[in-house]
Amino acid sequence: MKAAVIQNEKINVINIDNINLEDRKGAVVKVLGCGLCGSDIVKFIHKISNDGTVLGHEIVAEIAEISSETDFKKGDVIVSSHHIPCGKCVYCRHGNVSMCEHFKATNIKPGGFSEYVYLSEEHLNNVAHLKPKNLTAIEASFYEPLGCIVRAVKRANLSDGDKVLVVGLGSIGILSAQTLKAYGYEVTGCDLLGQRIQFLKTFGIDAFDVCGLSDNYKADCIFMTSGADNAINTALKYVRNGGKILVFSSTPHDETSYPNNEIYYRELTVLGSYSPAAEDLRESLSLLENGKVKVNAMSTVYTLDNIQQAFVDTMSNKILKAYIKIKCDE
Ligand SMILES: [Zn+2]
Ligand SMILES: [Zn+2]
Repeated sequence: MKAAVIQNEKINVINIDNINLEDRKGAVVKVLGCGLCGSDIVKFIHKISNDGTVLGHEIVAEIAEISSETDFKKGDVIVSSHHIPCGKCVYCRHGNVSMCEHFKATNIKPGGFSEYVYLSEEHLNNVAHLKPKNLTAIEASFYEPLGCIVRAVKRANLSDGDKVLVVGLGSIGILSAQTLKAYGYEVTGCDLLGQRIQFLKTFGIDAFDVCGLSDNYKADCIFMTSGADNAINTALKYVRNGGKILVFSSTPHDETSYPNNEIYYRELTVLGSYSPAAEDLRESLSLLENGKVKVNAMSTVYTLDNIQQAFVDTMSNKILKAYIKIKCDE
């Protein structure tokens, strides 16, 4: 089967061994398509993933072969996430499921940018769902990234009517703003790119160039979805005293200075949010299914053979979100 494999700092589409269920429980699924996540880009450019790795985890797929106690059957089109928490460790018991060792160790094999993927029985039981009929495969591929955002909104623990500023309107920023609006918060977005500002406005959400925000504007919470050097300064400028900054981005520099005195004197809360729990994923699917979060204009479609271009276009901000179409007759 074909898969996109990291080799010598490149992503090459090559033939790798087919996967069969053999005597395992679970399912082998034919991948219809897979979204390209910011974390895939980080793993690739910062050489976190070894040669031989197949990236991709935002899959929509059709069950090709199954041996399972679940209700799924051959031919079902499903979405699945990749990690599953154990539910018992110190992290799980404190709600930090994405820090759980089992969570980090579980994955879909070999990875989403592949013609076929093996999903364990544990995946089918916990993080896989039938694709809702009213969603296209591309729309359904937002199941996992939107799950991350549902989690971030819960972790922010906002109060009714809170004002939230989303700093950075890449795909995560656009999804965050829509999700926050769906939950009833007063949302504003900002970015440096005019196109992205305009795009957020199409969802009925106010958006500005960073310099266009009034100095008097203060938010109860900042969703920092940009890892740009200046994002933290923007966050500190517009968060109210006593407010929160939710960090939802990685930065290429480890030495971003730590704003000790701002946090101390202004009594700020700074928190991170990473990867979703099963209940966040279920909520994500229902936001998509009920049209509360609209994703149909967000993706640019690439074939598997053209995946390198998808990485290039995402990194240069030419596109908002890449979807790699793998089964070509879909
Ligand atoms: Zn993702
Ligand atoms: Zn655990």
